[in-house]
Amino acid sequence: MKQGAGPAIEKESDMFNALVVEKDEESGKTSAAVKQITVDDLPHGEVLVAVEYSTVNYKDGLCIGPGGGLVRNYPHVPGIDFAGTVEESSDDRYSPGDKVVLTGWRVGEAHWGGYAQKARVLADWLVPLPDGLDTRAAMAVGTAGFTAMLSVMALEDHGLATGHGPVLVTGAAGGVGSVATAILAHLGYEVAAVTGRPETADYLKDLGASQIVAREELSEVTRKPLESELWAGCVDAVAGVMLGRVLKQMKYGSSVAAVGLAGGAAIEGALITPFILRGVNLLGIDSVMQPYENRLRAWERIASDLPMDKLEAMIQPATLSDLPELGRGILKGQVKGRVVVDVNA
Ligand code: NDP
Repeated sequence: MKQGAGPAIEKESDMFNALVVEKDEESGKTSAAVKQITVDDLPHGEVLVAVEYSTVNYKDGLCIGPGGGLVRNYPHVPGIDFAGTVEESSDDRYSPGDKVVLTGWRVGEAHWGGYAQKARVLADWLVPLPDGLDTRAAMAVGTAGFTAMLSVMALEDHGLATGHGPVLVTGAAGGVGSVATAILAHLGYEVAAVTGRPETADYLKDLGASQIVAREELSEVTRKPLESELWAGCVDAVAGVMLGRVLKQMKYGSSVAAVGLAGGAAIEGALITPFILRGVNLLGIDSVMQPYENRLRAWERIASDLPMDKLEAMIQPATLSDLPELGRGILKGQVKGRVVVDVNA
C-alpha cells in the first residue's frame, strides 16, 4: 500500500480510512474505494496531520475517475486540499495542535492527499489557518476558493477598482465562480454571473450577483474583432468559446483572470484586437505553486473578505464514500458551490 520512500516519522498507529485509487496493471483501469491504511503507509513528510475536511475540485474528479487523470503513482490517495490539526511535526514551524490548511504542490496527484483521516506532507506546503477560519470553513473555500481569491488579488493588482462597471464571473455556480462572486460582491463590486444553469439564479443572487448572464449569450464564436465594452474585470473558470467572446467585451485597460478550462482547453474565436486596441490583460492564475507568502496573504484575505454566511450557503456536505459519484458529477459541471468532505463522518 505504501507510496513513498519511507516515513520520516516512525509511529505505531491504528488503521484509519482513506479513499484509495488502484490501477489494474493488465487492463489499465482504475478503481476507487474506501480502505483502511496505517500511518506507516503514508508518504515521506515532516508533518503528520489529522485531516478533518477535504473537498471536491475539478482535478479531484479527474483523479478519482476512470483512467486516473492526473494521478502519478498507484496506489494513490487523492484529495488536492485538506484542513486539519497537526499531530506530529519534525519541523520547528509546526507543533501538535496547530490548525493548518493545504492546497497545491501536486498533493493528491503525485503525493497522497486529503481523502484520508491522516496525511503526511512537507512543512513548506502548509499554511497556518488564519484567525476567523475553522477547518470546515477553510475547506468550504478550498482550492477553488483560494484560486478565486488569488484571481481577485491579481485583478486588483492590475487596477481593478469599484465603480467602473460590472465584473464578470464565468462558471459562476461552480466552486471558483461561487467564491469569486461572493468575494467580489462583498468588496463592493457589481458582479455579473454567467451560468448555464438558470435554476441557480437565486443562489447566485444570494451570493451577491447583481446580474445573471445566460451561458448561451457567450457560447457562439463571432468574427467581430471587438464588441461593446461591458466588463471592468473578469474571473474566468471556463475558457473555450466563452473566453474568446469575453475578451472582445472587456473595457479598455481591464483584466481577465484566467483560472480554468471547464469549457475547453483553447481560447476559441479570440483575436489579438482586445490586447492591442484596448490594452486588455490576460492574467494566468496558478494556485499550485504559490510561494508561502502569497498563500498566507490570500488566506488572510479570505478570512477578512469572504462573508461566512455566504460561504455556508455554498456548502454541500459529503463523506469519503460519496466521492466516486461526486467526482463524476464535477466533471459534468453538475456540482453547485463547494463540496465539503468530512473525512471522519
Ligand atoms: P466546477 O465544476 O465547480 O465549476 C465549473 C463551472 O463551469 C460549472 O459549474 C459550470 O458553471 C461551468 N461549466 C462547466 N462546463 C462548461 C462548459 N462546457 N461550458 C461553459 N461553462 C461550463 O469547477 P471549479 O470551479 O472547481 O473549477 C473550474 C475550473 O478551474 C476547472 O477547469 C479547474 O480545473 C480550474 N481550476 C484551476 C485552478 C488554478 O490553480 N488555476 C484551481 C482550481 C480550479 P455553470 O453551471 O454556472 O455554467
